[in-house]
Amino acid sequence: MLNKKAGPVQIVLVHKDEHSFELDEKALQSVLLEENIRDLDVVVVSVAGAFRKGKSFLLDFMIRYMYSKSNITQDWLGKDDEPLTGFSWRGGSDPETTGIQIWSEVFIVEKSNGKKVAVLLMDTQGAFDSQSTVKDCATIFALSTMTSSIQIYNLSQNIQEDDLQQLQLFTEYGRLAMDEISSKPFQSLTFLFKDFSSKGLEGGRPFIHKRIQVKEHQHEEIQNVRKHIHSCFTDVKCFLLPHPGMKVSTSPHFNGKLTDIEDEFKLHLKDFIPMVLDSGNIMEKEINGSKVTCRGLLEYFKTYLRLEQAEPRPHVELLLQATAEANNLSAVAAAKDIYYDGMEQACGGDKPYVSPAILDEKHVQLHDKAIEHFKKIKKMGGKEFSQRYQDELEIEIVEMHANFSKHNESKNIFSTFRTPATLFAVIVAMYMISGLTGFIGLDIVAQLCNCIIGLLLIALLTWGYVRYSGHYRELGGAIDSGADFILDRASAHMNIPVGGSMKNKTQTATQNTTMQKKIT
Ligand code: GDP
Ligand code: MG
Repeated sequence: MLNKKAGPVQIVLVHKDEHSFELDEKALQSVLLEENIRDLDVVVVSVAGAFRKGKSFLLDFMIRYMYSKSNITQDWLGKDDEPLTGFSWRGGSDPETTGIQIWSEVFIVEKSNGKKVAVLLMDTQGAFDSQSTVKDCATIFALSTMTSSIQIYNLSQNIQEDDLQQLQLFTEYGRLAMDEISSKPFQSLTFLFKDFSSKGLEGGRPFIHKRIQVKEHQHEEIQNVRKHIHSCFTDVKCFLLPHPGMKVSTSPHFNGKLTDIEDEFKLHLKDFIPMVLDSGNIMEKEINGSKVTCRGLLEYFKTYLRLEQAEPRPHVELLLQATAEANNLSAVAAAKDIYYDGMEQACGGDKPYVSPAILDEKHVQLHDKAIEHFKKIKKMGGKEFSQRYQDELEIEIVEMHANFSKHNESKNIFSTFRTPATLFAVIVAMYMISGLTGFIGLDIVAQLCNCIIGLLLIALLTWGYVRYSGHYRELGGAIDSGADFILDRASAHMNIPVGGSMKNKTQTATQNTTMQKKIT
């Protein structure tokens, strides 16, 4: 049932000894920048919580559900004797997953309104052993919350004050973020209680309310955490799962096959997983009221991890600034892509030579489109802040334009033969002058012309040799610029516009953009 090539990809590594975190940017890029999903809004489903509570086990069922959706006739839970695979999970006491892993295949799901979104599954875990500090766990937990739109908090039946204090870190972020942003910063939080004897979603509500209720005698900090859970999340849910049976929790030979799992557990699993993943229930990741694309998510990860490395722990203003930076950067990336893809279509790789005028026109068109796209995307940090990014975008577009023009120019066979043609024309002219002057008796001039013809022939042969062999390229360049000079002079005299050298064209492009800048 699983796609053979798909698998878990470690994107955040924990260096236990140094208590530091590292983002594997390449790995994350390889998943999020896949062409078919990178511009789709992303739904990030993350399961977080202490280790050995069955997070990976749960995620593997989610993977099954996602894969089976294309095959509705089949019961998604799978065959009875099929071992459970996906994110690695196992018995024993070693945390199997530390840091953050994602499933390499991002699922494309069509929501009920017809919109396609990309669903990413994420397995997160702090290093919950004697060597790791509370801060490490909290950091992973906060990262999970900040980057996900559907957070599942996996808990054992007895919710500890410690567990709730984990929530403190991000509610602190969330609370301050709310001062800047009017909407709730995070989307959905589901408390999932394991090994519970009561049943289902409805049974869970009163239970969770009691647990996260604010009580007067509690320490103020804990009271605050509880108050803010509700103000930070658009949607807070609770679900209870019964015990999966002794084979699951204790047998060393258990490999995940359904026959070894209690029926009641499976029954509730069949409620719970569609509740989380059904196309009607999923929520896209939003930051500051704007939906985030896969490409955008990459920028957020980069920014948040850079921030985590900064000691002491970042202040919230810093965090918000980083968020603003990330969403501006992802807007720049998206705009750049629009320009690049358009130009690539017009004159890229194997496309034939295009007239420079048409190319320039295309450039102006795509430049405007890209800038407009950048402006349209909602960004944090204010106008002045994003103006800086817009300026950067302009510069990069000019650079891309120069490269495209250069590439286009190299396809023009006439520009390849400009130098020999010029030299040849001068030789012919000199020959005629020499003949004419010899005829009327100006022998000295005729001799001079013959000399020049000789030199030009040598230049022509040298040029041919340089082009053929690829050696002495500086010499070839000198001959090219000599020929260009002659051509420029001649055309200036005769008032003919020449195809133009690269330098001229880049200048026009720069002028164009500066002009546009003035207009806007
Ligand atoms: P993770 O560290 O949170 O990812 O936990 P794993 O998914 O690796 O599971 C750890 C162990 O818990 C495995 O031996 C599972 O068989 C077992 N397990 C999975 N789900 C449950 C559950 O709901 N209750 C109990 N008691 N054990 C579970
Ligand atoms: Mg795990």
